[in-house]
Order: sequence, then C-alpha cells, then structure tokens
Amino acid sequence: MKTLQKTTCPCCKKTKDKSKIQRTIQLFPFNGAFKATEQSWTDSFLQVTNNYKDLYQWACDTCLKDGSAILGKPAKQNYTFKSPMDTAAPFLAYFDKRYTCQQCKDKFVFTKSEQQYWFEGLQFVVYSKPIHCTTCRKEVRGMKKLNTELSNLLKDGPPKTVAALEQVAAIYKEMGATEKEKMYLALAKKKKRAR
Ligand SMILES: [Zn+2]
Ligand SMILES: [Zn+2]
Repeated sequence: MKTLQKTTCPCCKKTKDKSKIQRTIQLFPFNGAFKATEQSWTDSFLQVTNNYKDLYQWACDTCLKDGSAILGKPAKQNYTFKSPMDTAAPFLAYFDKRYTCQQCKDKFVFTKSEQQYWFEGLQFVVYSKPIHCTTCRKEVRGMKKLNTELSNLLKDGPPKTVAALEQVAAIYKEMGATEKEKMYLALAKKKKRAR
C-alpha cells in the first residue's frame, strides 16, 4: 500500500503535509477498525481524510493557530462512531460554515463557537445542522411561543373576559392575522357593552 504524505485541510482547503496536521490528529479516534490495517495513527488519518473527505471535520495546525478553527472535544460530543464509514464521526475541529436559510433563503454563517455550543454545550447529535438563520430562528421560536399562549387562552373555547379577548386579539395582531384580530376585538367590545 502506498503511504500518503499529504491531505487537504477542509478549513483552508490547502494541501498539508503530515507535519502540519499534528494538533487535530491527536483527537482522531484511532480504534480497532484502524489498528487492524496495521498502519500508524498518522497514516490512518491521512488515508481516511483523503478517501472520505466529508467524514471528518478537522483543521490543519495553521488554521488552529491563526484562529480560523478551534479544536473540538470529542469526549463532550454526542456521536456514534463504529466504523470509518460512519457518517456521525466526531468533530475534531470547528470552523465557520455557510448554510442557506430554509425560510428567508439567505446565506448565513454557522460560526465555530456556535457549533461548539451546539455540539458540546447542548449535546446535539453531531450530524444536526441549523435550517434557519439566527433572525428566522428567533422568529420561529417567537411564533411557537405565541401559539402556546394562544392555545392556552383558547383551550376552553372563546375566552369569557374582556381582558382575555383583547389578549387573543393582540396575539393575532402580532401574528399578522388581521381578520382574527378584528373578530376578537369585536367580541371584546360586545362584552364591554354587555357589562
Ligand atoms: Zn487549514
Ligand atoms: Zn432566515
């Protein structure tokens, strides 16, 4: 088997000699699957990163040194790694990634520190990725909150008090549901007159 000497850093996309990838290599899960091939730790890493380019998220020593990437802590991550082909391999390093928001279709950056927080702080499974940009995420969360408030207010049918009816109208207003807003404002008015 020919021994590989170089691999491409997924962060800076530059070809790196094995002497320039020493920091992440320490985190590479060199387990039974690799030992069976009787290769050294470094050789296994070079082979795996050359053959399965998207399998590992790692970075070269230069990227780690200049701050474009930060080291991961696989022990803190939620991943299942059983074979070299496993798609849920741990993150050896984090660097900014660009995604397209499913709601507003804008490009957004999933920063390295956000990733670290997601995968090591919140312990999200390693293959999860954000589908919305920060703005839309806030909006979606806000909508969810409004929906919960609304269903609480409406759980026994239309509310009986003016205050609650006005609250429902206010929530519909915030949601942009003008017709519903008008309807509940009218109900509140009616109730006020009836007092
Ligand atoms: Zn690099
Ligand atoms: Zn968005």
